[in-house]
Amino acid sequence: MMLQKPEVRSTSLAPRRRSVAVRVGDVTVGGDAPIVVQSMTNTDTADVEATARQVAALARAGSELVRITVDRNEAAAAVPKIKERLLQMGVNVPLIGDFHYIGHQLLADHPACAEALDKYRVNPGNVGFKEKKDKQFGAIVETALKYAKPIRIGANWGSLDQALLTQLMDENARLSEPMDAREVTREAMVLSALLSASFAEDLGLPRNRIILSAKVSAVQDLIAVYDELARRSDYALHLGLTEAGMGSKGIVASSAALGVLLQRGIGDTVRISLTPEPGGDRTLEVQVAQELLQTMGFRAFVPLVAACPGCGRTTSTTFQELASDVQGFIRARMPEWKKRYPGVETLSVAVMGCIVNGPGESKHADIGISLPGTGEQPTAPVFIDGKKAATLRGPTLAADFKQMVEDYVARRFGVSARPAAE
Ligand code: SF4
Repeated sequence: MMLQKPEVRSTSLAPRRRSVAVRVGDVTVGGDAPIVVQSMTNTDTADVEATARQVAALARAGSELVRITVDRNEAAAAVPKIKERLLQMGVNVPLIGDFHYIGHQLLADHPACAEALDKYRVNPGNVGFKEKKDKQFGAIVETALKYAKPIRIGANWGSLDQALLTQLMDENARLSEPMDAREVTREAMVLSALLSASFAEDLGLPRNRIILSAKVSAVQDLIAVYDELARRSDYALHLGLTEAGMGSKGIVASSAALGVLLQRGIGDTVRISLTPEPGGDRTLEVQVAQELLQTMGFRAFVPLVAACPGCGRTTSTTFQELASDVQGFIRARMPEWKKRYPGVETLSVAVMGCIVNGPGESKHADIGISLPGTGEQPTAPVFIDGKKAATLRGPTLAADFKQMVEDYVARRFGVSARPAAE
């Protein structure tokens, strides 16, 4: 057998598309900046305390930008109070206002809201209709210019500019070889975002204060629309599959769509639009966004635990409990580790169920444990940096392994572990 070089490097990441960098508060989106994680609240923005609490939870979970709905006077009036409350809580995450229909009015009537927000999101499909559209969109752009804020022009399949769509459908019908209706709708999404951005630039808003999105709920449509946006412009792009859905469906659909685009070098900021279970944790969307970026190799946020799925060779729940226990332990320790141990987010840990793949996978991790499967000796070898370091057994096994992880982190990422600066 001879070693062969693969002809197709199918796993290669495409070079990141060059986009114009946009500052949102003190966070940069686009250009050479890392891909930014963002999220959105689902509280009533008029409820200052509940909204501030949820923004803080999202920010603490790792959301680098947080969007809030600004849908009426009470919500607009609450925005500066939410900002103030967040600062009292020690949270200084940039806030984005989500405006539909009356954004121009709310921003004009509530200057403190316009000032407190770090970005305005405008939907070109519902910013105004007929002759009011340009006027009301223009008013939002003028407010952005006055307060030196960026805007996101966010087209959405569910609220697509109907006048533009009708015009394109009519033009298409006159072609000798018309496109199918879906293609025309995709083109309308792309044009809706691009024409609005061009209009904003004509009004004086510089390109480094414009971010585009064109969210669709079907994976293939989303990929096609963003491919076109990326090909035809250099605006920073916000990626997200709209109405992704609940639970695993939402996570899979979002990851499939965004994964393809990110692999092609497209996307400067991501939001995973998950519908939470009733009473569910809103921060799950942040965790999914982080794990998507981390598993694809774009960023590192928190050490990931590699665990095998388990099978008939693991007859007890010990293995599942240990995998979950270790992941929980790492998440709980991260706030302190992040302060004390720079780079700890790149740590890799493995928790494996038996001898088949356990020792091998554990050796690939920085620190890994291979539990005994059915019929194996009731001992668990621990591997550190590829070498067997200890054998654990008995009721203190989980606690002992977590202590070994703690010691490894201190040794490897502690300041004293670094070479002195020259
Ligand atoms: S490592 Fe062992 S327990 Fe885990 S899936 Fe493979 S064979 Fe099953």
